[in-house]
Amino acid sequence: MNTDFASLQLPDALFGNLASLGYEQMRPVQAAVLPDILLGLDVIAQAKTGSGKTAAFGLGMLSRLNLGRTQVEALVLCPTRELAEQTTGELRRLSRALPNVRILSLCGGTQFGPQRSSLQHGVDVVVGTPGRVLEHLEKGSLELAGLRVVVLDEADRMLDMGFKASIAAILEHAPAQRQTLLFSATYNDEVRALSRGYQREPKEITVDTETTARDIDERFFEIQEGGAEGAVLSLLAEHQPESTLVFCNFKASCQKLVDSLLAAGISAAALHGDMEQFDRDHVLLLFANKSCSVLVATDVAARGLDIKELSLVINFELSPDPDVHHHRVGRTGRADHRGMAFTLFTARSVERVRAIELHAKRKLRIDGLPPRVQGRVRLLAPMATIQIAGGRRDKLRPTDILGALTSEGGVPGEAVGKIDVRPAETYVAIARDRVPAALSVLGAGRIKGRSFKARLAKLATAR
Ligand code: AMP
Repeated sequence: MNTDFASLQLPDALFGNLASLGYEQMRPVQAAVLPDILLGLDVIAQAKTGSGKTAAFGLGMLSRLNLGRTQVEALVLCPTRELAEQTTGELRRLSRALPNVRILSLCGGTQFGPQRSSLQHGVDVVVGTPGRVLEHLEKGSLELAGLRVVVLDEADRMLDMGFKASIAAILEHAPAQRQTLLFSATYNDEVRALSRGYQREPKEITVDTETTARDIDERFFEIQEGGAEGAVLSLLAEHQPESTLVFCNFKASCQKLVDSLLAAGISAAALHGDMEQFDRDHVLLLFANKSCSVLVATDVAARGLDIKELSLVINFELSPDPDVHHHRVGRTGRADHRGMAFTLFTARSVERVRAIELHAKRKLRIDGLPPRVQGRVRLLAPMATIQIAGGRRDKLRPTDILGALTSEGGVPGEAVGKIDVRPAETYVAIARDRVPAALSVLGAGRIKGRSFKARLAKLATAR
């Protein structure tokens, strides 16, 4: 398979920008689907988060836009708001060298009015969750008559979440002459039925994802009933991972585990479906910028998260479904990073371990636990987050924040991590030991000639 981007007929501006993103070669899914997408064919592809699927459909879709028309030309439907926002971000990065591409994310949990007015100003690409997209169609604030490309991303997940009828209703509004791309981590009868219903002679593509398995150090640990929390503590103490994602089968176990981690002095947070959207966003931001070491999540909440450089995945509770287990483990060891995946099981769940072994078609490694830890575990997140009370509305950009922080003997540039500029506030990650210095330069100085309040953003503490 040719993995050279130059082998594709991409517009020059799109192609030129790839090097600045550090995309040197195509990922397998991109090499497999892009030639067909660029020909305008329908494609159904089996690919999961982390494979590079967003750029696979993104580059194809952006190449096919007729910019300058005042109609929505491409629509990406995603199961969750987190995924829609990540996808929007990736499409904006990919398209930044194209003149004036307007990409809008339409998700629930955010105000309707501002979305409607953005639509009135003209949008080329809409990325959204089915519920909110349909609401805009029904209220007449969104028109799809000029649509050329539709992407159904994580189609299996959208079906699991009950979006089948909404997808059908949305596609009623789209012209029959269009390109439909379907991406799904798994193929089952429902996904195939969706494809039959909305695609024309799709090219079917499966990319071998097993290649990543080699980069993951996967181990199983047998524990006593009730011994899982102690086991997580000793594994964290032993391996000192920078970022860990722990999977639980139940929301209740998430919060309970987070409470014991916090009590042991570890920066940890829960992520599950019962949380308010604001709290979920806050936790994700702190975890992604390395201000929180351990995120404890349910499968639904963690679906679609794109966290780079995840050092460790722990299965606190074994999933009854080997496929789900496989996806959890696949969260680590992405790109060029080696990952670890540890799974805890009790004598009662040995059958599930066997099922995973059969599914993986290889012998699993079962290890002894490291010694129990007494007292507090030393595992501090490398960064902390400063929240500045100003954002895009105040015309702040990441370079302004970086400039203010590093000017006049403030903090060295390498101590500044991710900078997230939101509409009304900005979050900036700072190496933990440089926080006092950063707060004092921000307190004393100005950003773009104005002073803004700044404070440390906090994770919840133990209850
Ligand atoms: P996705 O599967 O779309 O969530 O992508 C996973 C990550 O891979 C994203 O952070 C992309 O920025 C990155 N990525 C996608 N394509 C390439 C490429 N060809 N080379 C390097 N990184 C890539």
